[in-house]
Amino acid sequence: MLDVVDVGKRSLAAYRGVAPDAQLDELLRLSDRLRGARCMHLSATSYGGGVSEILRTLVPLYNDLGLNADWKLIHGDEAFFQVTKRIHNGLQGAPGELSETEKSLYLATSHRNASRLINDSEDYDFIFVHDPQPAVLAALSSLRDSRWIWRCHIDTSHPNPSFWEFLHPYLSAYDAAVFTLQDFIPPRLPLQDVHVYPPAIDPLSPKNYPLPEELARHVLEWIGIRTHRPLVTQVGRFDRWKDPLGVVHAYQRVRPHVPDLQLALVGSLALDDPEGWEVYEEVRAATAGDSLIHVLTNLVGVGNIEVNALQARSDVVVQKSLREGFGLVVSEAVWKGTPVIGGRVGGIPLQLPDDTGGLLVDTEEECAEALLRLLRQPEEARLLGERGREYVRQNFLMPRLLLDHLRLLDHLATARPLPPRDIVPVSLVQAAGLAGG
Ligand code: UDP
Repeated sequence: MLDVVDVGKRSLAAYRGVAPDAQLDELLRLSDRLRGARCMHLSATSYGGGVSEILRTLVPLYNDLGLNADWKLIHGDEAFFQVTKRIHNGLQGAPGELSETEKSLYLATSHRNASRLINDSEDYDFIFVHDPQPAVLAALSSLRDSRWIWRCHIDTSHPNPSFWEFLHPYLSAYDAAVFTLQDFIPPRLPLQDVHVYPPAIDPLSPKNYPLPEELARHVLEWIGIRTHRPLVTQVGRFDRWKDPLGVVHAYQRVRPHVPDLQLALVGSLALDDPEGWEVYEEVRAATAGDSLIHVLTNLVGVGNIEVNALQARSDVVVQKSLREGFGLVVSEAVWKGTPVIGGRVGGIPLQLPDDTGGLLVDTEEECAEALLRLLRQPEEARLLGERGREYVRQNFLMPRLLLDHLRLLDHLATARPLPPRDIVPVSLVQAAGLAGG
């Protein structure tokens, strides 16, 4: 059996007044056609990164709209996740190649996961496979009645050929693929039906829900932040592509000009990311002895509420990535009105268009300059945050992502009609709540 993630319940009606009405109305119309459809989302882990953040909200919202959705996890030991991390890095262009031993290990674990998937297939109409870790399962399983979708969240625009040659033949088993940006579509993708849409954040999750100011301050003091001093934060897995050491260097350039300035580097350490521990140790070594730099992790209890408070109360948030899929953390901070200095890579520019949300940078020097500028010009910082918040509202909140998903499912169900199903009625109370505004 694959593990099922218990996601609880969410109500789309709760987004009325937060997300744009037009998106909510369209969702109700579209979901009528898909009611009763069975859908599985398959991923590698239930916490510690953008995919789990998204599925925790998306899956229960499918259910609220009358579809039947589950979120399941593949199994794998540390050695398997070492290989999948190398594949992840290789697909984003990192050098190296997979050894025959690594390939065999990856395929052997994937075969076992494919058997588990077949055993508890439950007749899914749609199977969304997230990211490279479970990507070969469409080809290895025999569930041909399902419509298979590969949702690739990373930047595969220039994959290292040796990794791409390995994965590429397995992808032809999919009916469709989804990428965050047009540019991310890899060369010679063996699929015709390719869609492009970005992820989104949940404005109602504990990570993004507005915190009362006093509570936010209390939470920050609790984890050692001095709330009367200026604060810059980066939140992200300890991953070289997120360049935490580059952030430290940029901060060190600014510090002589803003002597009180604190830096918070927050990173979760996840099971499918063994390399994270190495990067964490490097960051600890580079910042040891500096009491104004706070290196914080999920292991010392820094979770959603703490991240929320940090993103809301920082003077500036940084996301100085060198490669990035989307970078949910950018929209998360901007949604709280905090300006972001982001690396000009992947999905970050999509979230920070001209004069909106923050500033884009290419180097440590530019990052330091931008930091100093926004710390010295709080009015500019405030305006960037304010404009950014409205932009996020229109483009990067969960109902928009749900709408893109349902459009894709509808498109696939039109191409190959679903078998007749018992209709699961959407609660009249909910429908009335949505229609009533
Ligand atoms: N995150 C978190 N704590 C951490 C690090 C990350 O809660 O210590 C969350 C972050 O708030 C965001 C997600 O994990 O919701 C990371 O998504 P993103 O798209 O930025 O990056 P990914 O990890 O998917 O590359």
